[in-house]
Parts: sequence; structure tokens; C-alpha cells
Amino acid sequence: MPRDTFLPFAPPCLGEAEVAAVTEVLRAGTWLSSGPKTKEFEDKFQARVQAKAALALNSATAGLHLSMVLHEVKPGDEVITTPMTFVATANVVEHVGGTNVLADVEPDTLLIDPAQIERAITKKTKLITPVHYGGQACDMERIEKIAKSSGIAIVEDAAHCGPSLVNGKPVGSSSNINLFSFYANKNMTTGEGGMMTGPVDLIDRARVLALHGMTRNAWNRYAKGGTWKYDVPEPGYKYNLTDIAAALGVVQLGRLDELYALRMKIVDTYERAFAGHKFVTPLKIRKGNQSSYHIYVIQLNLDTLKIGRDEFIVQLNERNIGTSVHYTPVHMMSYYAKKYGWKPETFPNAFKASERVLSLPLSSKQTVREAEDVIEAVNDVCAKFKR
Ligand SMILES: *Cc1c(COP(=O)(O)O)cnc(C)c1O
Repeated sequence: MPRDTFLPFAPPCLGEAEVAAVTEVLRAGTWLSSGPKTKEFEDKFQARVQAKAALALNSATAGLHLSMVLHEVKPGDEVITTPMTFVATANVVEHVGGTNVLADVEPDTLLIDPAQIERAITKKTKLITPVHYGGQACDMERIEKIAKSSGIAIVEDAAHCGPSLVNGKPVGSSSNINLFSFYANKNMTTGEGGMMTGPVDLIDRARVLALHGMTRNAWNRYAKGGTWKYDVPEPGYKYNLTDIAAALGVVQLGRLDELYALRMKIVDTYERAFAGHKFVTPLKIRKGNQSSYHIYVIQLNLDTLKIGRDEFIVQLNERNIGTSVHYTPVHMMSYYAKKYGWKPETFPNAFKASERVLSLPLSSKQTVREAEDVIEAVNDVCAKFKR
């Protein structure tokens, strides 16, 4: 039986504890900007991913931009990233006047291909920003080796990573800068928000840059015994998180394992249904990795179907199934295509994937019954439009 109500793609999973935590900050009526809740959120997140230091930010994008500043990416410098990412990863390079260089993805994991990174390195390469697509970590062992031998820094776009593990270690625990996102549809959310983890010296400098470049934050200045004096050694930005958002974050972080278990029930249902499927292929998860499954991506086997991906999405929508696409590759966005002269075929694996990928509904709020509705709808569309 087709669904008679629309199943949204990825709604947040919030409960009374989240409502109470936010309300508590509002009722206290003392401090709404970055303060004690933000500090608590940073400390707990740092412990959770076994990082040396953590800095809460108002978005992962803010953190990506700060990373460009911390690593002093300047005009003429090249930053290597993947075409299969949210465009923020590339946009921040443009903001500091750097040059984006793309390395194509592996066709089965859609993660950046280390061999392509190697080929893309020049004397001007300053930074590599691998993206842990879907919540599965890239081949960091190989990428670290490549970066080290060329003296290049790494910034990990871990925006998709909730509880992701790479070779048994949490993503975020590396000595690189790591950026997590708590955007509304991410595994855990603060509405808008992000977290930077990494070495103490870089995080300390990022903390100053994230608040106008001021040597002392407002919370400390306004506390009893605090001083009004501060210096600005360099002009910073306004990237700090509010205590209201942090209160939400503390609760969501505390529920991360619970949220992950709920998510995995849906993922397991999908995995069973799509293993060896004739018409669709799920993402491959590499041995030794634990994906956070931020998204559940399938690639359509287009040679078995009479319709393309866009029509497939329309058909699912008609069956009350919401979906999304991750992503139209960076090099196919008009700004980038025009500026760099990139054609869709310039990065053939990303291009091929861009015509085949779609992300099925997935959230910790979803029921197994709803996942079965999705599977039924996918199978129905495949049966109706098989070649
Ligand atoms: C969500 C996302 C971002 C941006 O995160 P914000 O917190 O919304 O700024 C960056 N990169 C990737 C891969 C993302 O999915």
C-alpha cells in the first residue's frame, strides 16, 4: 500500500529534554551568548571525540573559513578538495582568494581518491580538505602520508560525522583541524552550529578569531571581577555559538548513541533490502570504518531503467517519499564551471555519480515501518520503469 502522508527527508529528532534545556537558559535570563553552556558543550564534545581541544562555532562553514585563515591560505595558494561536497567547502577558499583544485572521487564510496590527490599536488598546494562524505571517513592513512611527504596541512570536513570511526578512532581526534556541523538536518543539531576540534595552539588562535579578534570574551569581561579591557591583535570574525544553541547541543550530544542506534535500525533495513539489488546500488563502506550514516545514498543502475534520476525522484515524491541529492558536484555549479573552465566530464566519477545519486529519507525519528514504505516505493518505481 502506498503511503497516504508525505514522509519528510530528514526531520530533527527532538524531545522534551531539548525543550527543557533551551527553556532553562532563557528562564535563567543571565547570559544568552557564548558562556557557560557553550563551554560545557565544548568540553563534552572534546571528550566524546577524544580531541585535544574544541571550539563551538555558529556553523561548520564558519569553521572552514577560519581554517583557511589559520593555515594562511592566500591568493596563489591551492587547496585540494572533492567535487562531491556541499559547496561551502569550496566557497571558503574563494573567500580568502585561494584557488580550488579538485580531485575526483572513488566510484563506489564517492570519497576523494588519494591517487587523484597525488596527481593534483603542485608547488602551490597549501592544504587538502578531504570530506567524509555520508559520514564515512576518507582513506586518512594514505591522505596523511601524501600530505606529510609534501609538507601540506589537512583540514577535515567532518560535517557529516556524528559518531564516525576511522580505524577504531573517532573522527575529530586527529591532529588536523576537524569541522563538525550541527545544521538542522545533521545527525545531531543545534539549529545552526558547528564545532572545530584540533591541536591546542590552532584552536586557541581560532577562538580569538571567532570573536572579532578580541583577546578576552564578553562573558569573562562582564563577570564579577572581570575587566573591560581587551586588545585586538588581528581583525577577527563573528562566528561564536550562543548558549541557547549550546544547551540544545549538550542534550543532543548526550543522546548521540541513542540517536545513532535509532538511525542504524533504518540503515539496516535499507541495507538488507538493497544488498545485491538489480536497479540500485548503496554506497560501499570500507573495512575498518564506522559510518555515521548522515545520509543513505543509493546510486541508480541507469542501464536497467527507462527513467533518469530526476524522474525517479518525481516518482518517489508522487508516492509520498521525500528525497534529496548529495550533491550536484562543485565543478558543475555555474560560478566554478565558469571561473575554472570545468566541464561536467572533467571529473568523470563525480559527474557519473551526479546523474545517479539520491538520498533516501533517514532520521533518528523515522520508524522501520516508514523505511519499509520507502523500500516498497523504490521497488515499485523500479518495476514500473525497468528497461
Ligand atoms: C552541512 C555541511 C557543511 C556546512 O555546515 P554548516 O554548519 O551548515 O555551515 C559543510 N560541508 C558539508 C560536507 C556539509 O554537509
